[in-house]
Amino acid sequence: MTEKLPWYHSIRLKLALSYVALSVIPLLIFILTITTFIENYFLEARINEISENAARISGIVANQGFDGIEHGVTLPLLRSVITQRSNELGMRILVIDDAGRVVDDSNRGTLLSEVGNIFISSEVISALGGADSDVVRRDEYAIYVTRSVHDESGRIWAVLLVASAADIFESLSNIRTTLLLYSLAVGLVVVVLVFFTSYSLITPLRKILQVVQRMTMGQLSLRIPVSGRDEYALLATAFNNMTDKLDQVEKTREEFVSNVSHEMKTPLSSIKVLSESILLQEHVPEEMYREFLQDINSEVERMTNINNDLLALVKVDQREQGMNINPTNINELVEDILKRLYPLAEMKKVVLLYEELRQVEIDADEIKLSLAISNIVENGIKYTPKGGTVKVIVDADHQFLSITIQDTGIGIPDDEQDKIFNRFYRVDKTRDRETGGTGLGLAISKSTVLLHGGTIRVTSNPDDGSVFVIRIPLRR
Ligand code: ADP
Repeated sequence: MTEKLPWYHSIRLKLALSYVALSVIPLLIFILTITTFIENYFLEARINEISENAARISGIVANQGFDGIEHGVTLPLLRSVITQRSNELGMRILVIDDAGRVVDDSNRGTLLSEVGNIFISSEVISALGGADSDVVRRDEYAIYVTRSVHDESGRIWAVLLVASAADIFESLSNIRTTLLLYSLAVGLVVVVLVFFTSYSLITPLRKILQVVQRMTMGQLSLRIPVSGRDEYALLATAFNNMTDKLDQVEKTREEFVSNVSHEMKTPLSSIKVLSESILLQEHVPEEMYREFLQDINSEVERMTNINNDLLALVKVDQREQGMNINPTNINELVEDILKRLYPLAEMKKVVLLYEELRQVEIDADEIKLSLAISNIVENGIKYTPKGGTVKVIVDADHQFLSITIQDTGIGIPDDEQDKIFNRFYRVDKTRDRETGGTGLGLAISKSTVLLHGGTIRVTSNPDDGSVFVIRIPLRR
């Protein structure tokens, strides 16, 4: 059963939005920039044209003298020039005196005429202050150009030209609207295209999702069908591999739990039998109590050993995170191990020898590595009969540290040599129970050596004894 995804969470929508954003936003920026540029270009040209006329009219105003103007009657020539220019250029022209009064207006004689009125605006004020100005008034769709004119007596006059720019604004606004509609159409086309092309991207993902969801419902044997060689195929393969690995881990875990319970079963049933036989009998002699309790005690000891080894194994199984890596002098480490094991060797009448061919220091987890080597040396002592020898050799080449543990013991048959590193594996169950072995020692040693990036090998011959060689790279 596939969980339905709301459309607004779908990758398709996200893809479509991203593509629209990627295509339409640059288009919009381009359209706005280019239209603003064109608009400014035309406004500039219009301002220049008006400015030229303003300069000419200002010249005439200055040349004609101002007496006539001053009395509210513009000289005929000036008047005719203003009328003519205004008609030709389609702009309004006003002449304003230093008191802000309009002395001439190209709208003279109409209802709109400002002649005689006070005309105050920011452009006029700055012109009467001696500064020319060009202002585009977007709200009025108009351009205001003011020129200040000085007469011979030092009075200042303002000539104001007002021209419409509506044609420019309208044309540009039309162009903008058309281009915006065009980008909207591009956006829609992109959405449609993305919806169709994303089909091939989404389908394999949906297939993977379906399998994962069915596996979550319990169909753990399902695998994702792999087709093609793209990233989806890699993802499907990686997922399948991961699932195989998890299966493997689960099997190992089950095996491990069953091994542990099996190992615990024997001492537990011995304890049960021993304790029951005392409980069910009356008047049990003291020696029998003692003997049975000793047996119970040794079974408890055995379970404690198994428990300790299991804890050690869990620690080395915690992978790299649990490692406490430091520069470690291997010669000193091996010497310490041997010092601890000399009493056992003496007890078993086995000669323990040490040979160091080279001084070696590597980055290692001292405690874990020490336990790993110690297990193998202890095995050497345990499985070597009286009068035999166990020898430990520390050496190194330019790449690897090697620790060789060789004994003259009972050896390991060829077909068992691979298995002795498995958890709870013992060559001879009955005899090994007597030696107190748990079958976990070599599993701990192997996991530890692997964690250090190394290898561990055994060669053995039941007549000559066994040789274990640990090799660990000098640099991690
Ligand atoms: P144990 O605690 O039983 O010794 P190990 O994992 O250390 O468990 O070893 C697994 C088995 O491999 C042992 O039970 C023993 O049969 C065999 N073995 C290990 N080392 C030697 C050795 N040096 N000589 C002969 N047999 C060995």
